Amino acid sequence: MTAQADVKRYELLIGGEAVPPGGGAYSSIIDPSTETPIASVAQGTAADVDRAVQAARAALKPWNAIRASERGRILMRFAELMRTHQDEIAAVESLDAGKPISGVRRQDVPAAIDTLAYYAGWCDKINGQVVPARPDALTYTVREPVGVVAAIVPWNFPLMIGMWKIAPALACGCTLVVKPAELTPLSALMLGRLALEAGVPPGVLNIVTGKGSVVGDALVAHPGVDKVTFTGSPSVGRGILQGAAVNFKRVTLELGGKSANVIFADANLDQAARAAASGIFFNAGQVCSGGSRVLVQRAVYDEVVERLAQRAKAVTLGDPAQKETSMGPLISAKQMQSVLDYVDIGKREGASVVSGGRRWGERGYFVEPTVFANVEHEMRISQEEIFGPVVSVIPFDDEADAVRIANGTLYSLAAGVWSADIGRVHRMASALKAGTVWVNTYGYTDVRLPWGGSGDSGFGREHGDVAIENFTEPKSVWVSLAQ
Ligand code: NAD
Repeated sequence: MTAQADVKRYELLIGGEAVPPGGGAYSSIIDPSTETPIASVAQGTAADVDRAVQAARAALKPWNAIRASERGRILMRFAELMRTHQDEIAAVESLDAGKPISGVRRQDVPAAIDTLAYYAGWCDKINGQVVPARPDALTYTVREPVGVVAAIVPWNFPLMIGMWKIAPALACGCTLVVKPAELTPLSALMLGRLALEAGVPPGVLNIVTGKGSVVGDALVAHPGVDKVTFTGSPSVGRGILQGAAVNFKRVTLELGGKSANVIFADANLDQAARAAASGIFFNAGQVCSGGSRVLVQRAVYDEVVERLAQRAKAVTLGDPAQKETSMGPLISAKQMQSVLDYVDIGKREGASVVSGGRRWGERGYFVEPTVFANVEHEMRISQEEIFGPVVSVIPFDDEADAVRIANGTLYSLAAGVWSADIGRVHRMASALKAGTVWVNTYGYTDVRLPWGGSGDSGFGREHGDVAIENFTEPKSVWVSLAQ
């Protein structure tokens, strides 16, 4: 894509400076709701990545020379600056990613600020231990920063997921090169500038925009990068894991999902259907933990299908900047086509569309909220991640049947259970293969609770104290006490 003359141009952020890309190329960023260019963003090269990694390496020493409590104050100032600029950040994120502004204000921005403030509090609490190994030695551990971190971020929650990586890495004394998704780089660039304003030293947080196959690849291959934290698709994740082997980089992978939301006949069906609908239609279904499979006990199957169809029809599609809009477009023409292709696949497989199923409007990448009934577990629409507003409603007979279906995909990121039976919900929470299980609710995340999955959903966890382990290396120290 070529740069547009009439939109703002954004450079790379390396070593605290706005730097033009080595190759001189810029790409147009498109508003997915209108298909018009909104910005022109630098396309980084492998040489730019090298410069950014060197800047990050050089910044490790000054960043760790700052007292931990002061580092915490700097990060808290960064969080306060985000709060001061929250309207601007929300507007940029909404425009760039096509997210309804009300949702960005309610969720993405507050969650990103909360994440930063939470890890600001960790800075001076990253302790080692004195371990009494033997009487003639003082033996203790310290936790040291992993080093330079490459953070590779997807387009569905650019700000929030970006911060899930940036905040704990900074708290642990690491420095970063962040690669935002090519389609949604604007909020990361804002964060880079705010961090500098807050007092984060130049070079600690570098932002290199551009293609995954160029910038992402170069980061993964770079010997100066110590850790890669990645959120994105399983196929790219697999390549990253292989590429990171070159210098045995540490890797955390948050990949896809095909989460099951299991509704038993004794559940509060009104609440369950409402949460199941928002669990898949929120962010136009572009959510790794979206409840894309709703499993319903046979006795209430028709009723739940009907309730879901009604809720799908009540979704307000439209301009993400309007506060009454509840669902925006998909991120790109390619993503829209992929979702529509899945609708065709579902129909050919014999499932029935009871609501939606088509493109909405002629401008923007909108797809109607779509409910598929009569879905069988083996169908592709029940097994593969669609990453759009499409839900497969699957009947089941009893608990064992529900567990078999829910656990019967390659993914295991999240799951939901709806039932009034307290014993059953605990049995299900134990039996479901998932990193997170929601009971009589769906979709919440909080930085204090571990987040991640296994299998094709990746490995490792973000959030909480687990993330502190992700970004530090323990060191054991032996001091002889022998006379
Ligand atoms: P993607 O894998 O295409 O891209 C993710 C990031 O990787 C982008 O920044 C991209 O530019 C970069 N990238 C692409 N090719 C690369 C390469 N060869 N080397 C290094 N980096 C490369 O994913 P996406 O389409 O942006 O996001 C959607 C996917 O992300 C879905 O599968 C979704 O389930 C997953 N996701 C998972 C979580 C989670 O927490 N588990 C959260 C959000 C999204």
